Amino acid sequence: MNNESFLANLQSIVGPSGVVTDDETLDRYTREWRGKYLSGAIAAVRPATTEQVSAVIKACAESGISITPQGGNTGLVGGSVPIEPTREIVLSLDRMNAIEDVDTQGNTMIVQAGCILADAQQAAAKVDRVFPLSLGAEGSCRIGGNLSTNAGGINVIRYGNMRDLVLGLEVVLADGRIWNGMNRLRKDNTGYDLKHLFIGAEGTLGIITRAVLKTFPRPKDRLTTWLACHKPAECLVALNMLRDRLGDAIVAAEIIPAIALDQTLEQISGTKPPMKPSPAWSLLVDVGVFDEAGAVRDTLDAVLQEAVMNDVIYDGVIAQNLEQTGQFWRIREAIPEAETKAGPSIKHDVSVPVHRVPELIERGSRLLQELYPGARPVPFGHLGDGNLHFNLCAPLSALGDKAAETEFLAAWGTINRAFHDLVQEMGGSISAEHGIGQLKKDELARTADGVGLDLMRTIKTALDPENRLNPGKIF
Ligand SMILES: Cc1cc2nc3c(=O)[nH]c(=O)nc-3n(C[C@H](O)[C@H](O)[C@H](O)COP(=O)(O)OP(=O)(O)OC[C@H]3O[C@@H](n4cnc5c(N)ncnc54)[C@H](O)[C@@H]3O)c2cc1C
Repeated sequence: MNNESFLANLQSIVGPSGVVTDDETLDRYTREWRGKYLSGAIAAVRPATTEQVSAVIKACAESGISITPQGGNTGLVGGSVPIEPTREIVLSLDRMNAIEDVDTQGNTMIVQAGCILADAQQAAAKVDRVFPLSLGAEGSCRIGGNLSTNAGGINVIRYGNMRDLVLGLEVVLADGRIWNGMNRLRKDNTGYDLKHLFIGAEGTLGIITRAVLKTFPRPKDRLTTWLACHKPAECLVALNMLRDRLGDAIVAAEIIPAIALDQTLEQISGTKPPMKPSPAWSLLVDVGVFDEAGAVRDTLDAVLQEAVMNDVIYDGVIAQNLEQTGQFWRIREAIPEAETKAGPSIKHDVSVPVHRVPELIERGSRLLQELYPGARPVPFGHLGDGNLHFNLCAPLSALGDKAAETEFLAAWGTINRAFHDLVQEMGGSISAEHGIGQLKKDELARTADGVGLDLMRTIKTALDPENRLNPGKIF
């Protein structure tokens, strides 16, 4: 079958508006978020139902065409765009964006995979519940993408990552069969828990079409505090003091070095310093108020006083209102954008056991400075999850000098490898949040446990023997 009859076949399944081939619109589906992976595709196909997804997969199988599943295309590792444009389609779930049911008694929500994360959050909020996954791309990323990358974000410390927020899934397999695992059960020990195979699989094992999500009671209020420490180890002690006294009310805990704070205040208009001068290390904490607000505030005040007296923190501000809370979080959320505006940087997204975060910051910063003298380490992120975005900004002397910037970026691979070796030695992971995609597949092959990698390949071959789903990703 040639391309023309293949496209006609697809159109007969999803309707003419469900097949995108014009260059301008197709570009939106084949250009990855940061523009790092510029691709192409035979078409972007936009089914409206699970049955259509199944029929599209069968049509692709008949024509020997591969499929790149796509949600919001905000993944940052090249997983959502094709590698071989002439032999692949993008299968976009963007038309399957409905919220089908919100159940306030069982605290669940049924959504289609193309539902935008912010819409799911709002649907929960409307019935006084919270769907707690929260991340910078929440206005664009979609539930199917969140599931396929096992997304994390800022609230993992309290609610877990995407894997912890799901009860059931519906998945279309590589042979077109539909697996109905849409249960709402909190307890189900009938054999293997198949949904977990597809969560974090980056679209290599099946196409997620619907999901049963968990919702939670909505906090009555939220207290946000910005704390100043001299060292990362003190941030960790402060966080644990807060958790000892406030328990699960701690909803988010982010560590921010002065370099990231200053860069953001400089680069992002409208941001205001939470305190002056910038602390060497800041700890930004959100406390959910589930009980009486005054009592939580009193406990928070008492812990902060104790932390000052014990030289754990040397200053702290509690946001006075929602506007100030918004200002604090705006700084945190804008760090990546500020970094990009400030010049080139080499990225790492890693995790280590939580108690080793201060050690990683110390050893990692030293290593990066040895590897590229003058370059500036910027480790920030989810302290409570042991997950840091450990980036390396180009030396100040290189900024604006094209040749020097190019030379710096050429060291990306060497620096990644040395840094990942350190992370591994410390019992960590080379990809804490964004997955493997195309970006880290060589590093996965280099660093993964051989038996583990073998098991992954066995599962892939069993579920997708023709390598039709997202070829060239992860492996
Ligand atoms: C500004 C910004 C901030 C971010 N912050 C965070 C963060 O804090 N934490 C975090 O974890 N991530 C973060 N990310 C990364 C990204 O937003 C997440 O990985 C998100 O979960 C991807 O969702 P998506 O719908 O855009 O997926 P896509 O980018 O479209 O796809 C991601 C992967 O999932 C596959 N896929 C998509 N939909 C399906 C489906 N229905 N079935 C099967 N496979 C599918 C794709 O093939 C691809 O491999 C951030 C990204 C940006 C741009």
